[in-house]
Amino acid sequence: MAEKVIIIGSGPAAWAAAIYSARANLRPLVFEGAVTEANRVAGTLPLGQLALTTEVENYPGFPAGDLKAYLDTALPEEKRAEMPPHGKHGATGPELLELMRQQALNFGTRIITEDIKGVDFRVPCTHGRRPFGLFASDGKTYEAQSVIVATGARANYLGLPSEEKFKNRGVSGCAVCDGALPRFRNKPLVVIGGGDSAVEEATYLTKFASKVHLVHRRDKLRASKIMVERAETNAKIDILWNRTVEEVLGNDREGVTGVRLKSTVGAEDLELPIAGFFLGIGHTPNTAFLQGALELTGKGYVCWPVPMRTFTSVPGVFAAGDVADDYYRQAVTAAGTGCMAALDAERYLAEHE
Ligand SMILES: Cc1cc2nc3c(=O)[nH]c(=O)nc-3n(C[C@H](O)[C@H](O)[C@H](O)COP(=O)(O)OP(=O)(O)OC[C@H]3O[C@@H](n4cnc5c(N)ncnc54)[C@H](O)[C@@H]3O)c2cc1C
Repeated sequence: MAEKVIIIGSGPAAWAAAIYSARANLRPLVFEGAVTEANRVAGTLPLGQLALTTEVENYPGFPAGDLKAYLDTALPEEKRAEMPPHGKHGATGPELLELMRQQALNFGTRIITEDIKGVDFRVPCTHGRRPFGLFASDGKTYEAQSVIVATGARANYLGLPSEEKFKNRGVSGCAVCDGALPRFRNKPLVVIGGGDSAVEEATYLTKFASKVHLVHRRDKLRASKIMVERAETNAKIDILWNRTVEEVLGNDREGVTGVRLKSTVGAEDLELPIAGFFLGIGHTPNTAFLQGALELTGKGYVCWPVPMRTFTSVPGVFAAGDVADDYYRQAVTAAGTGCMAALDAERYLAEHE
């Protein structure tokens, strides 16, 4: 028997889609991703990108405060035992995601902790309809009348061991998410990259930082003309040309304290004291498993062909969250489009029954 709806992913988009479709009696089946070393290294373990961060200060409904009693009552004891102690600051990324997952479970969502490795999205025939096929990492094939793709995107990192060591302690892949945290206020920061997203991150961070060093490996920014002008005329942005990162410096107590930069044109190494190290070198959408089954943008994101709808190029397949959104990339927008995808899937199923 084909499932009514299968949801692929485990970030805010997937759990919002699961909550809505479970409450609509669609009995959603979620593939939340597998717990593997490959997923750990790629930053795509179950619960998604937000689980990789500490405080989340901008998800509505979770102001600073002591959530301990709420977490203890909302989540099963064994889950609580696995989680870091609550810090009275509102919610952390992992706390928010565990709450969303539990809310989906409470309404009857079924969860399989495996990856989807491939899909067969050939359009079902109208008579004697053929369901969509999903090939999972457990070796089985699952069938569904509708599918919601919510597999997110991952921030690109340089891959240095020192960068990995200080993730969440000064190293961040998201300026909009983390820039306002107290540890970065009125401190010098570094942004790595030379494209539009790096310049955007650097410009955003000037609201909080004392200085933002934009480090680029070439002698010219790749960003659009207007963005370049913005960077060059901002008194708080200092562009360091022809430099690459050798090491992020820091210690266990303070986290990031500096960065050592190499020259690409033979100048001496440069060491800068900084409190934050931000990556502005793009994101990689988790769409490799789609293997041409859906129309993608030039950057590999799933296309939403109709504005304000989560439709994809295949009727009956919907996309939600960062896998289709390379612009807003926030937990609340991902959850919002997850809700939209569930409603779109519900309507599609009603029309095709
Ligand atoms: C360091 C950092 C800090 C951030 N802080 C904030 C913040 O403070 N506030 C905020 O609003 N946003 C923040 N964001 C952004 C936010 O995390 C994302 O916008 C949001 O998580 C996107 O949600 P999503 O549901 O689209 O997917 P994701 O969170 O990307 O989750 C998708 C997950 O689906 C699973 N998956 C992927 N492929 C498959 C597959 N083939 N089969 C099965 N499962 C699969 C993986 O587990 C993957 O991680 C931050 C991001 C980063 C990197």
